Amino acid sequence: MPKSLIRKELLAQRHALCPAERRLLGEAIQGRLLAGSMFRQCRTLGLYSPIRNEVPTQDIFQAAALSGKTIAYPRVRDASLEFIAVADPGAFEKGAFGIPEPKGDHAVAIAAIDLLIVPGVAFDLSGGRLGYGKGYYDRALAAETFHGRLVGLCYEMQLLAFLPRESHDVLMDVIVTEQRTLFTKEPAAVL
Ligand code: ADP
Ligand code: MG
Repeated sequence: MPKSLIRKELLAQRHALCPAERRLLGEAIQGRLLAGSMFRQCRTLGLYSPIRNEVPTQDIFQAAALSGKTIAYPRVRDASLEFIAVADPGAFEKGAFGIPEPKGDHAVAIAAIDLLIVPGVAFDLSGGRLGYGKGYYDRALAAETFHGRLVGLCYEMQLLAFLPRESHDVLMDVIVTEQRTLFTKEPAAVL
């Protein structure tokens, strides 16, 4: 099945989540991430502002801010993304595609990010990710060296066995759903 059809189907499923479900699932997903050592150990976190029923991130923001981590959000710049440090959750304005983007000018290099948390339309068991079809994360991570862990957040229904994959697609190290934390590069995950 082509990427475009899978996007359409999965976006419709995510759109159908009611606010109460999204809140409950969102708390479970964020709670799972927050309980893990990769969150505890990271110093510089890349996060996102959720749109269109993406997994919420405010609990992660709060926990990271409380423990003094640097938190950076992506902003569209040309055909790629730059990351801007955010200390105040109110410091956003509407940017490209209606996504709230950070207003500041404190850029954080991708190479400095320990843990980069990304949304997606769908993921697969070996770390494949489908975005909205613009390839921003693929390009941003190809353009700069990233040394951290790449983590996708999604609802279990967005996690498929296989997605179509092209050579430019970046792979997640970890996928967190309300039911599991999947380390995609460990041998057992490949079976
Ligand atoms: P998404 O990751 O948002 O689902 P795709 O993987 O389908 O989207 O990529 C969308 C477009 O971005 C493709 O046309 C692809 O060629 C382009 N693209 C992705 N990564 C790169 C890259 N590293 N360099 C140049 N173009 C890229
Ligand atoms: Mg891609």
